[in-house]
Amino acid sequence: MSGRRLILILAISAACGGKASVSVDVLFGDPSIPTPTDPPYGNEVVYPSGLRLGLIPDAVLSSTYPNPDQNPFGSARSQHYQRVGMFLPLEIAPTAERVSENFSLSEYVNATVQRGGTRAYVDPEVVWHVQLVRSGLGRPLIVSSSFRAPGHNRDVGGASFSRHLYGDAVDIDVDQNRSDANTRGQEIFNEASDVGVDFVLPLEDTSVDVSGLRRVSWVHLDDRGF
Ligand SMILES: [Zn+2]
Repeated sequence: MSGRRLILILAISAACGGKASVSVDVLFGDPSIPTPTDPPYGNEVVYPSGLRLGLIPDAVLSSTYPNPDQNPFGSARSQHYQRVGMFLPLEIAPTAERVSENFSLSEYVNATVQRGGTRAYVDPEVVWHVQLVRSGLGRPLIVSSSFRAPGHNRDVGGASFSRHLYGDAVDIDVDQNRSDANTRGQEIFNEASDVGVDFVLPLEDTSVDVSGLRRVSWVHLDDRGF
């Protein structure tokens, strides 16, 4: 897909209530291994597929982030908890495009879009790691949660400094109706640990009952930077 180029321009409402024209450059370059980055992030993001997308600021959303100096790991970790300043504009993001070999951008941001959210950040390093886990296991994986804006994270009872706020956390769904669910959860945990994910929460720490019908659980992985 090298050299493929597509430019999307759409007028969207700016945070101040006026109209702003935002251009999103969709450019496929050469795939590469992403380097770890900390928030607030830059003007563009390049995914393992080579997909290159422009990011836009959203001062209102940024202001809803918690004070980085109050993160639970102390001031030495504040650099990893800076408020996210640059976001994917989901109104015009090319969600059908692939961010890695087997995953489209929509698989990471659909939950946000379905809630009516218009901003997200999806970290290329965790996308790279999810792809490595999927390739290592040789079977499809379902991303059940990735980016959460701080307000939504509060609504769902997430930790106040959850890495989902910073776009480098992903939950991998494990269907508890399967008899081999625990084995599958352990395999995801092992593979994520092997490929170098910074932090992995195993299946047993996250299992919950949903309406008494289907037990939904997941393996949480994130590239928090330490
Ligand atoms: Zn999670």
